Amino acid sequence: MKKILSFLFVLSFALTLCAQEPEAENGLTSLMKKHGLNCCTAQATPTICLLCGIEAPKPCIAKPLDQAVALAKDQPKVEKVLIFCPDATGKFIVDKYPEDWKPLIESSTFSAVGTNVLPSVTPVCFGAIFTGCPPEIHGIRKYNDKYLPNPIKVETLFDAFTAAGKRAIIISSERCSIDLIFRGHKVDQITVKNSIEAVETTKKILREGKYDLVLCYDGNYDSTMHANGVFHEKSIAAMRDSIRWYLELVAVADEVWPDQKHLTAFLPDHGAHDLENGKGTHGSDQACDAVVQHFYRIK
Ligand SMILES: [Zn+2]
Repeated sequence: MKKILSFLFVLSFALTLCAQEPEAENGLTSLMKKHGLNCCTAQATPTICLLCGIEAPKPCIAKPLDQAVALAKDQPKVEKVLIFCPDATGKFIVDKYPEDWKPLIESSTFSAVGTNVLPSVTPVCFGAIFTGCPPEIHGIRKYNDKYLPNPIKVETLFDAFTAAGKRAIIISSERCSIDLIFRGHKVDQITVKNSIEAVETTKKILREGKYDLVLCYDGNYDSTMHANGVFHEKSIAAMRDSIRWYLELVAVADEVWPDQKHLTAFLPDHGAHDLENGKGTHGSDQACDAVVQHFYRIK
């Protein structure tokens, strides 16, 4: 009897061990697992911080991209950063129009294909990109949270730059997600009417030379595809504008920072797909919405 009892005890202990939970998933890892990818868009924040020799924001749980770890080793730090945020130009559209993307791909030092976060909508995704945290940590869980006062509850990339004695600025259109969600954080902001004005203002800000990190938001493709469909000629024209505007800004960055090591990054938030009525949308966990390619260039 005693032998049977001790056998049962050992058996129940073994079963308990086998039943232990695998490492807990979070809002970054669940989509990576679903799409079999080992990168996520929230890695942008620790990647930029690593290349600049700045401590990542405290709550950041994403790791720097492997390519950046290799590039940062025993190399001088990046001094200046230009970030371009085209809205909704996901991996799906890079794959569909490779010829259009060729100049951007060829000018990049490295790129990463990764997943974003759910729901795959602008404020939730950019919240993750610029904190290195999933939505359950950064605080924006749904689209309308962008209208809450100070919706991001944790430190951002911009706070990290300011803490390191650097100056950061965001140029974006009025009432768009990026215009609203970083209010209350340590970053200067200029609000403009539309993407073309954002691009022109960014060129002016770069030439004035007062900032170490300059972010330009371009919501043109997103609004065009919502109204017309993801592959409509007007949407493709907007996609081509995003590529061209980024390359124009890269040229200005090279011109104003000739002797300073600088990083330029093309960081979209999510992709998109068409509804039955032909209009574009996003927000799901499907690859068209959730898989995004981020491009980085170091000069
Ligand atoms: Zn968006």
